[in-house]
Amino acid sequence: MENLYYEVALPLPLRNSFTYSSNIKISNGSRVQVPFRNREIVGYVLKKQSSPNVKSIKPITKVLDRNSLIDKPSYDLIHWIANYYKAPIGEIFKSYFPPFLRKGKEIKDSIEVYAITNLGKLASKESFGRAKKQFEALEVFQQKLELSRPGLKANKISKAILDALISKGYLEKKSRNRNELKTNKELNLEAFFELNDEQNKIYKSIKNSSANLTHLIFGVTGSGKTEIYFHLIRDFIEKGKQVLILVPEIGLTPNLKAEIERRFGEDNVALLHSEMSEKDRAHAWNDINKGFKSILIGTRSAIFTPFKDLGLIVVDEEHDSSYKQIDGFRYSARDVAVYRANLEKIPVIMCSATPSLESLKNCQDKKYCLHKLTRRVKDARQPKFEISDLRSSELKSGLTEYSLNEISKELSKGNQVLVFLNKKGYAPMVFCNKCGWTPECSNCDVSMVYHINPKRLVCHHCGTKHPMPVACLNCNEESLEFFHTGTEKLEEFLKEYFKNTSVIRVDREALGKEQLRSNSVLPDSKEPLILVGTQILAKGHHMPNLTLVVVVDADSGLFSVDHKASERLAQLLIQVSGRAGREDKEGRVILQSFVPEHPFLEKISSFDYDRIANEILEERQTSKLPPFVYQINIHAESLKRPLPEKVLMEISRSLNLNDDEFIGPKPELIEKRKNYFRWVLTLKSENRKKIHALANQVIKMIDQSDYSKNVRVGIDVDPLN
Ligand SMILES: [Zn+2]
Ligand SMILES: [Zn+2]
Repeated sequence: MENLYYEVALPLPLRNSFTYSSNIKISNGSRVQVPFRNREIVGYVLKKQSSPNVKSIKPITKVLDRNSLIDKPSYDLIHWIANYYKAPIGEIFKSYFPPFLRKGKEIKDSIEVYAITNLGKLASKESFGRAKKQFEALEVFQQKLELSRPGLKANKISKAILDALISKGYLEKKSRNRNELKTNKELNLEAFFELNDEQNKIYKSIKNSSANLTHLIFGVTGSGKTEIYFHLIRDFIEKGKQVLILVPEIGLTPNLKAEIERRFGEDNVALLHSEMSEKDRAHAWNDINKGFKSILIGTRSAIFTPFKDLGLIVVDEEHDSSYKQIDGFRYSARDVAVYRANLEKIPVIMCSATPSLESLKNCQDKKYCLHKLTRRVKDARQPKFEISDLRSSELKSGLTEYSLNEISKELSKGNQVLVFLNKKGYAPMVFCNKCGWTPECSNCDVSMVYHINPKRLVCHHCGTKHPMPVACLNCNEESLEFFHTGTEKLEEFLKEYFKNTSVIRVDREALGKEQLRSNSVLPDSKEPLILVGTQILAKGHHMPNLTLVVVVDADSGLFSVDHKASERLAQLLIQVSGRAGREDKEGRVILQSFVPEHPFLEKISSFDYDRIANEILEERQTSKLPPFVYQINIHAESLKRPLPEKVLMEISRSLNLNDDEFIGPKPELIEKRKNYFRWVLTLKSENRKKIHALANQVIKMIDQSDYSKNVRVGIDVDPLN
């Protein structure tokens, strides 16, 4: 048979593709196994080639998918991403598949289930004697008839109990097609809350608008944004469509997942995030790809899942910076979502209490439809703000006497308190009071942070850990002192100060992977307690008994060089404050500050994000900053100090830029990180076409240059800062 030629993308940081041959007809987007540099790898067919201009063409070893698992819109989207984000196309293809498929494996549609036998259906409590747990497990089966692995886990049924029930003949193992599972996929109409007038107006307006629009629901915290999109999702599910819900972090949104499952059936909802096992990810992906399940809740990279029949994309907390991938191939999942929806001619609903300035500007420009929710549901009022002057009293682990008194008052009323501090560890700074030495990371340009459990110094940028020295490593005196307060120290102090109250620390260190996986980040308890935590506590939790939020260091970010700092600080403070006083209890927020008269804090206290955002937008427009101009960052990093600057200078010179078209090159905020020296050149322009043309020119230069051995150059389109 005649040889056919195919252009194949390989999952490597390379922008070019490779030609292979095969005598089989292969569709675009299919996975193929091909030889590359003495090994076999999985590549992706870009297209058939008519006349190859390469000499020695190797044959494709194995065709893994005769019919591509990637549909036409996804195939087109991959090309758009490669072109827009200047990313290697093979790496984008790779992101479209779960690790299982990237390795060339297959996902089976069958699944093992445990099903109740006739004997089991009839078994009564008496026959179990003292084996109470076994009977309780059987009761679950008597109700549900059969369970697969996730169901067993959810009902806490152990292997030992299963084995016992099987040996008694009450249960049997069966293999089922995942599509035929006897599971709960029913819509539970009673679980939906009735919408109030304001919500209903937005619901109807989105429902009746044309299909391919982007909507932004901008509603104060607690105003019931999610209920609106639950109702819209219902309409799509009833039409047999699938829905993608993007969230910044799954482990931190347990309520959202539970609420969605309650309404749409727990077996109709698939989850996709990086903390899951490869097997679970493969099945979730397959369930969505084949249409076995209707709803996918996922983090950033879930935007790359090929659906059988996608009808709607929801981007929850659209302002969250976790939607932006900042390493490797850099992209914004939120922006990709908008483009994807455009290609598939379906709507996108984004929501936030503190929308990003880009999205607000897109609303001003009439590219997105803005829907505002101004009232909190259940008549909950906005929290009241107070500013506590850090200069006015002696601080106890960073807290003023006023804050401590107020915490104690709330606890005595039976309420819960959140103490917010965005610094992990025990002491962010260790300092020798004899010679001024301070421990620094050997791989990065930063000081190491002291942690107490276990006692050691940790670099928050590369993860390097050292034992805490007893004496100064410079002058040998035992004169090391700790400065500043981290969450560990705050936790220790609060435990000591409020002896009879439970104090729970919530930050990346305190949360295990297991906790993130099982969605059990926050306690269910309604008892008085103190939560101490970093910004992960700002994300959408609902704690009805929380009445006071203390922001230990409201000043951080006020004096930053980064133009995005004020936007981020406003979002963070308003999101954190939004945790206070939901439902019937009034909430208060204490902002501790060394500059209580700073106009920005006064603005935050108004809780009027709309006004703050508009003022920041005006400033950005005057100073020609994003979102009024487009930016593309060219990052260069090398183990050799002078090279990044040299390479970026070369690039910048050869582009012949006008003065207002670039910034830098300059060292990154932390120049040395993980032993790499890092510099950045920022291109900017009011003309999107022009700036992309410049970036394409840069790529050509990089590909043709010989410095790539020593310098890694990366491109960041629409950078976060
Ligand atoms: Zn010293
Ligand atoms: Zn480091």
